[in-house]
Amino acid sequence: MTDAARRAIRPRPLLLTVLLALFAAGAGAQGTVLDGTPRQGSLLFGRTDPGSTAVLISLDEAGQETARYEVMLDDGGRFVVGFDRDHGPGAQLRIARPDGELAETITLNVVAHGWRESSITVAERKANPYQPEDLEKIAVDRELKDAARAVRSEEAMWVSRFEWPVEGCISSPFGSRRIVNGTPRRPHSGVDVAAPDGMSPMNYIGTTVYAPADGIVRLAREGLFFEGGLVLIDHGQSLESALMHLSSVDVAAGTRVRMGDPIGKVGMSGRVTGPHLHWSLKWRDRLLDATTVVDPRGRCTD
Ligand SMILES: [Zn+2]
Repeated sequence: MTDAARRAIRPRPLLLTVLLALFAAGAGAQGTVLDGTPRQGSLLFGRTDPGSTAVLISLDEAGQETARYEVMLDDGGRFVVGFDRDHGPGAQLRIARPDGELAETITLNVVAHGWRESSITVAERKANPYQPEDLEKIAVDRELKDAARAVRSEEAMWVSRFEWPVEGCISSPFGSRRIVNGTPRRPHSGVDVAAPDGMSPMNYIGTTVYAPADGIVRLAREGLFFEGGLVLIDHGQSLESALMHLSSVDVAAGTRVRMGDPIGKVGMSGRVTGPHLHWSLKWRDRLLDATTVVDPRGRCTD
């Protein structure tokens, strides 16, 4: 599909277009403008007076501070912050002027999401599922990812906004969790996209995967233990996409990509049960629901 065709079928909402124009034009900002709804798993885009500094403070039910992040701002005062799956009900954004004087304290009510949970009972597996060589490989992969994430651009490349990296339907949403024999597993760290209705799953392998937004490729590797073929894209200001289980990685680390550039092909590499694309969106150490930044898309019919 051409870029023009891809955009034509996904018109931007008017408000977003206006905000985007504002962001892109570099209009002289007065105070802080926020775009988005603070919600568990979601993110907020913002802009404030250039030269300011910003701090995000997360609060629990009792109003106690649970986390504090210095927020990266670009030269135009643009920034992004994220709220993870289990974020508490409150947050504060404190903006200070270049001289350090506190200019604004913005109180945010973080809306609870209500994540899917399902309990299953299975026969207890006594053996450790990982062999010693698996654990070694997992540790090597971890070092690769850590090294790739050590470099972060302050440039707000996410200003391109986001689109789905691949065609298909949602086979597993972000944040869902299985409770196996009473023990909660780790919640799903991203959204899984699988073959659209009418396409056989095996034919989905080889479907082109695109960069969901502008960014710089920080890691492009095949053969990781969990992720298989993996591409990490730095969208700037510690916002990152991870695209996993690729059958082929068609981009190199260090490459600057634009939204819609091909980066690889759908596969079933790594720890998977079938062909799909797993897309994780992460701000700092917080995993986010990527479906909050793209147009709604349906679930696959089982
Ligand atoms: Zn997944």
